[in-house]
Amino acid sequence: MNDKFMLAALAQSKKALPECLPNPPVGCVIVHAGEIVAVGYTHSPGKHHAEADALTYIQGQDLAFLQMYITLEPCSFQGRTPSCALAIAKDPHIQEIYVSLVDPDPRNQGKGLDILQAVGKIVHIGLCAEEVNHFLEKYLLKGLKL
Ligand SMILES: [Zn+2]
Repeated sequence: MNDKFMLAALAQSKKALPECLPNPPVGCVIVHAGEIVAVGYTHSPGKHHAEADALTYIQGQDLAFLQMYITLEPCSFQGRTPSCALAIAKDPHIQEIYVSLVDPDPRNQGKGLDILQAVGKIVHIGLCAEEVNHFLEKYLLKGLKL
């Protein structure tokens, strides 16, 4: 029943191409009371990832219970940009997170999800995984190709 929000995040994912490369084209939406209040996608390397992009829309707004839908597990590590998982973990308004795919990148692989769960966020995995994987799979970093 929340498929429409993940499919909206998938539509954002597609907007990330080609500027996001070599990062995967991730999309994100933030939902408040059944309405999308923020959207984001991954920009060129060094600029906002999808999650950080969406979080900028809700800065300074006092929205009580927010859900975030993301096509890929948020990054747990500091690369060219700060960790998205840490940014979400620190945001008191984001309480529930739907992640479609776990990131196969060896630097992540569930660590981003662990960060969220460690601070008590409710995390769901696998929503619309088939549709999202169909688009995202070829852009994901796998195995030892670092
Ligand atoms: Zn990130």
